Amino acid sequence: MKIYRNYCLKKHNTFNVDAIASIFAEYTTDDEIIEYIRTNEGKFKQVKHLIVGEGSNLLFTGDFYGMVLHPLTKYISVQSEDNDFCLIEAAAGVIWDDFVGWTSSHMAFGLENLSLIPGTVGASAVQNVGAYGVEAGDYIHSVKYIDLHSGELISLSSEQCKFSYRNSIFKNELKNNFLILSVTYKLSRKPVINIEYADLRNCFGERSDVSPREIREAVINIRNNKLPDPEVTGNAGSFFKNPVIDKLKFNVLKERFSDLRFYELADGNYKLAAGWLIDKCGLKGFEHNGAAVHDKQALVLINKSGNATGKDITGLAYIVREKVKEKFDVCLEPEVIFI
Ligand SMILES: Cc1cc2nc3c(=O)[nH]c(=O)nc-3n(C[C@H](O)[C@H](O)[C@H](O)COP(=O)(O)OP(=O)(O)OC[C@H]3O[C@@H](n4cnc5c(N)ncnc54)[C@H](O)[C@@H]3O)c2cc1C
Repeated sequence: MKIYRNYCLKKHNTFNVDAIASIFAEYTTDDEIIEYIRTNEGKFKQVKHLIVGEGSNLLFTGDFYGMVLHPLTKYISVQSEDNDFCLIEAAAGVIWDDFVGWTSSHMAFGLENLSLIPGTVGASAVQNVGAYGVEAGDYIHSVKYIDLHSGELISLSSEQCKFSYRNSIFKNELKNNFLILSVTYKLSRKPVINIEYADLRNCFGERSDVSPREIREAVINIRNNKLPDPEVTGNAGSFFKNPVIDKLKFNVLKERFSDLRFYELADGNYKLAAGWLIDKCGLKGFEHNGAAVHDKQALVLINKSGNATGKDITGLAYIVREKVKEKFDVCLEPEVIFI
């Protein structure tokens, strides 16, 4: 395990903000980190700690006075297969889109709609990443983690992970207690074609012979055109979650805003498009201390100057939340994790 002190995290968060971690530890094998955790039993109860994959959903609001653990584990292995399904285990440190590309080219289908989401396989389970009508949790078979306090290895089934919209047991009951070692996906041997989402429908029209490879290519194209590249402009994708409101509130809003963007949920509630709400407040392109609302995609906050701090971006997020609350009486909840 490589351990660095007073380590700069600028290259480890896609907002590209400057922050220093007191200790930064990276490891390349599961055995290394398991041994470290077991020989330092009790340490993580006392020392503040954070696991950082690609840092594509994190906002550092200041320096991190604790230990950052950074997985660089890279294995992908087929656990079992038959004519219909295969179980594929991937290490937490594998780059998510490398994994999606690998599965698709090894005749293991289902993840194509999740192409090009930044981040690692480990975080895919924490975040239950989702895009274009598919969520990681739809295909996760099990998640293997180590309990940071007891050193015990534990495997959770998909059901036990309690996946919901950008949420899982890892963000709730298990928060701060675990480090994911690997995630096993159950994928289909037969192509899974899900092109119901409007952007994909527009690409393929009425075609019924679309291949998984074409879906992956289309998703990559759409994302490249729609979202700012963090290598060029710091950002963490959607900054806020799409808010869910009840029917009563929905009726009031629909009355006031006939062009309201929404999606009716199976439980009778309504999910609103957070980006539309922000746009309607006239905030596209709005700037605050070097941070800005992206001028094409209002749901994305960017480090426009390249020198905005975590506090500047937090300040901008606060303004956006207040404006949306004022105009729509709807509270936006951040998807990005503040550190
Ligand atoms: C341009 C852009 C577009 C995006 N688009 C989407 C999208 O379409 N859909 C979507 O869902 N997300 C999207 N995101 C958000 C982001 O890609 C995901 O949340 C991703 O899963 C984060 O992965 P990461 O490795 O960077 O995790 P990090 O940001 O490093 O960490 C996220 C959380 O996971 C925890 N974590 C990470 N690895 C481990 C581990 N091994 N064990 C335990 N905990 C761990 C961290 O402690 C933290 O709590 C986008 C981000 C960007 C920058």
